[in-house]
Amino acid sequence: MIRFDRVSKRYGNQDALSELNFEMQTGEFAFLTGHSGAGKSTLLKLVMLIERPTRGQVFVNQLNLNRLSDRQIPSLRRNVGVVFQNHQLLNDRNVFDNVALPLQISGYQGKDMGRRVRAALDKVGLLDKEKQLPVALSGGEQQRVGIARAVVNKPALLLADEPTGNLDPELSAEVMNLFDQFNQVGVTVLIASHDIALIRTMNRRVLGLADGKLVHDGELPSRSTGS
Ligand code: ADP
Ligand code: ADP
Repeated sequence: MIRFDRVSKRYGNQDALSELNFEMQTGEFAFLTGHSGAGKSTLLKLVMLIERPTRGQVFVNQLNLNRLSDRQIPSLRRNVGVVFQNHQLLNDRNVFDNVALPLQISGYQGKDMGRRVRAALDKVGLLDKEKQLPVALSGGEQQRVGIARAVVNKPALLLADEPTGNLDPELSAEVMNLFDQFNQVGVTVLIASHDIALIRTMNRRVLGLADGKLVHDGELPSRSTGS
């Protein structure tokens, strides 16, 4: 689903990623971790084609993104759902309209759109909140709206950048369970997070970045009790 082939990204004279190689198979679930500035957001931006690599090649769903024309970018983005830390919801539109946004961009209308939006809201347990404005919701609910919006197009790949950054441990676990459920129906999931404690509870593949280099790939060793 994702392959990085000796990918480097440089901003000015700052190396954000250096010669990165890794692969994720369709249906995999992985975390991307590392300190602030390690390159996590940059990696996700390369997959979404918000940024382009300085050197090397990024493949998503067999497509070499270097060869993708601007015209092909919207269809890539439709296939990639993205969840942000701060939700990035539109505060003057209700929950339904926020979740409908990607469908409107894709040209959906009417009944079909309503059906898809409600299916997405149902999956995150917010069917009864469709008329509410985002400000009327709790932080955890807002993040679930963000997740519904990310999956409404039924993307094959779901990316998240610190999706639990503003949530307490209990709500964070709920959000992780949602990602798990999407993964169980075949969605490939890649989540950037520096919350090692939360990541440990999930027993999943972890890609560790430090200074733009891959320094770990695999499950984290379980921690002995008492530490
Ligand atoms: P992380 O998400 O792990 O915090 P980032 O990918 O945001 O890391 O950043 C990696 C490095 O690239 C950092 O040193 C950061 O300051 C730098 N960087 C990220 N985006 C830009 C940008 N648009 N312009 C200049 N430097 C950037
Ligand atoms: P994150 O923690 O998600 O990496 P940051 O707060 O580091 O977010 O960065 C926010 C935005 O600013 C991102 O779009 C990132 O690419 C950009 N950015 C990060 N570092 C720099 C930098 N040194 N110069 C310019 N833009 C930057």
